[in-house]
Amino acid sequence: MESILIVDDDINLCTILKEELGAVGYDAEFVTDGNQAIKYLSEKKADLILLDLKMPNKDGFGVLKEMQEKRIRAKVIVLTAYADVKSAIDSTKMGANDFISKPYDFDELLITIRRVLQEE
Ligand SMILES: [Mg+2]
Repeated sequence: MESILIVDDDINLCTILKEELGAVGYDAEFVTDGNQAIKYLSEKKADLILLDLKMPNKDGFGVLKEMQEKRIRAKVIVLTAYADVKSAIDSTKMGANDFISKPYDFDELLITIRRVLQEE
């Protein structure tokens, strides 16, 4: 079973998304800020991370930077509330595989997740 870590400070989104991903067969967990994400990834493996950009403590860019420094390997799809194409493109320069804007469409997200998980 492929594992997905949701990283978002919106706990309602995390709860719903974990349930949605679980229902289609993924092993999904969530954390609600960037520091918790790095701690989680230092201890456990995730095949894919769904990463919010705007979060307290350590934001999504901070997570991407620290993943590079610590050589934490996982696919990343950025979830950004800000239909903010510039931030999304910046995140792909920092190692994110793709991005989806919030509010997300679950079918669209699922297609992106499946595609990114299959990429080399
Ligand atoms: Mg946020």
